[in-house]
Formats: sequence, C-alpha cells, structure tokens
Amino acid sequence: MTEQLRPDGSLRHLLTLESLSRAQIERLLDRSQTYVRPLGERPPRSTALAGLTVANLFTEPSTRTRVSFELAAKRLGAEVVNLEVQLSSRVKGESMLDTVYTLQALHVDALVIRDAEAGVPGLVAGHVAAHVSVLSAGEAHVAHPTQGLLDALTIYQRKQRFAGLAVAIVGDIRHSRVARSAWHALRALGVTDLRLVAPAALMPAAEEFEGCARVRSIAKGIEGVDVVMMLRIQKERFGDADVPDGDKYFAAWGLTPERLALARPGAIVMHPQPMNRGVEIASLVADGPQSVIRDQVRNGVAVRMAVLAEVLGTRGGA
Ligand code: ASP
Repeated sequence: MTEQLRPDGSLRHLLTLESLSRAQIERLLDRSQTYVRPLGERPPRSTALAGLTVANLFTEPSTRTRVSFELAAKRLGAEVVNLEVQLSSRVKGESMLDTVYTLQALHVDALVIRDAEAGVPGLVAGHVAAHVSVLSAGEAHVAHPTQGLLDALTIYQRKQRFAGLAVAIVGDIRHSRVARSAWHALRALGVTDLRLVAPAALMPAAEEFEGCARVRSIAKGIEGVDVVMMLRIQKERFGDADVPDGDKYFAAWGLTPERLALARPGAIVMHPQPMNRGVEIASLVADGPQSVIRDQVRNGVAVRMAVLAEVLGTRGGA
C-alpha cells in the first residue's frame, strides 16, 4: 500500500481511511467542523492555499464529489482545473501517468482522482513528485475516504458520540466503496455495533468487514439502530448478478416509513447519492424528517476543505 504520511507523520496523500488512527480521523473531523456553516450564511473563505493549484482528474462520472472538491479548493484560495477523461482500460495506467506528468509540469500541487479501476490513485501517488499530493475521490469498490469522513461527521453532528451507536449499512454493500470507507472510519472511531444488511448477492465476501454482523432481512437489520445508511444499487458494477430490480427490490429491501419505524426513535437516515428513489429508498423517507442526506452534501465541502488544508496547508499562503 502506498504510504500516505510524510516522514514527520503529517498527511501527504489521502487514498484510504483504513490505515489512519482514531486521532488522525478525529483531527480531520474537528478541522472539517470549523468549515461548516448553516445554510443561508456565507461559507468560510480563506487564502490558505493561495498560489497552489488543484486538479480534479475524473474518469468516472460524478456530480457532488467533483463540485464539492472544486468549491473546497476555491474557498481556500487555490486555482482549480477539471479534467474528465475517458481512457480505454488497455492504455489507462500509462496514459494516466502521462496526464499526471503533464499536470505536474503545469504546477499542479494536488491531484484529486476518481477511477473505476482499483489501484489507480495509489499508482499515481507512487509516481508524483515529492511536493504533490494525491487525494482519492472514489476508487472502484475499494475506497472513498472523503465520503467516509463526511458520513462520520454527519453522524457525530446528530448523535454527539460514536461509542454505543448501532449503525446499519443497507443494500449494495458488495460493490460499495462508500460502505468500505464508512466501516474504516466508524471502526476507528469506536462503533462496535455495525450491521451489514443485504441480500446474499450484495453481501461482501466473508473475509471482508471483519467484526460486522450480517443480516439478511431489512426489518431485522434496522431494528433498534441509531443510524440507517442506505446505499445505491450500483448496476454498473455487477453486470448480470442475480439481483431483483425495481419494484421487486423495493418490496424486499426498500427503506419505507414502516420499516424505518423499527429503528430507534430519532434514528437518522443517510444516503451517499445518487438515489434510486422507489428502489432502495422511498421518497417519503429520503425527504422526511429523519433524513440527513442534505447535511451529508453540505458536510462534503467542509471535509474536502479540511483534507486539502491538511495535505497542502504547509505550502499555501503565497
Ligand atoms: N456517489 C457515491 C460513489 O461515488 C455513491 C454511489 O455512486 O452510489 O461511490
């Protein structure tokens, strides 16, 4: 695994939350919280990253993550370039590095990378110049570290603790980088009751998610939980697997108000988006009083500001 820390222990790259300590994650969450403002107020701005350039290099579609990385960099005073590239998988590794070297020659200081293939952010991190940082914006089914942080921040804002919480992750866990990064973050932060709730075809392999309970019924899985984290059915990642679609899936696995009533009163509902309304979640729940889905989006910008400030902070302010 590519080393994410500098020799002095500071964060240089963010590729995964898996190897970060509780103290490192808490530090990022505390820093993120300083960038959160109520809607209607102006978001914070600073010149912390003035003179630096951030490139968003996305080979998979994205709306929220790309826009929030862009806003985060701009609100810290950095310049931003956005590249959406389509590369055939045969030439990808090579062309990706050529693109990266080109960006580096253009004085890019941080590369934000989203890619459908496992290993690409790590590959790039292993080849960039010493002053350049690489941030994963979603790597295949493997990791989505800023999403894991924003999910943890959203939970903390509502529950003011991690210890003793019961969290259910529901749906397409097998293909979900969101679930993996949430698990890494919540495990480090002390959540011990983490339930994977999914049909067999969407459960991750047995050797993954060590220590999590596996439940094959949504009603049982969300009973008494404090947090219901719904996931999108990621058809693009599973081809012909035997998963019922549309109405059938909703009937067996959709989060409806009746099912949500089985969770603890005051339980929160999360979804990383994009949502398949009427498939994994009912609109009444997605837009209802227990939903914190829009908080997640707002927190995404704050978390990405914190991460950028953390990895580039000692170099900005020119
Ligand atoms: N937007 C999230 C991701 O990039 C979740 C999803 O696409 O389902 O993984």
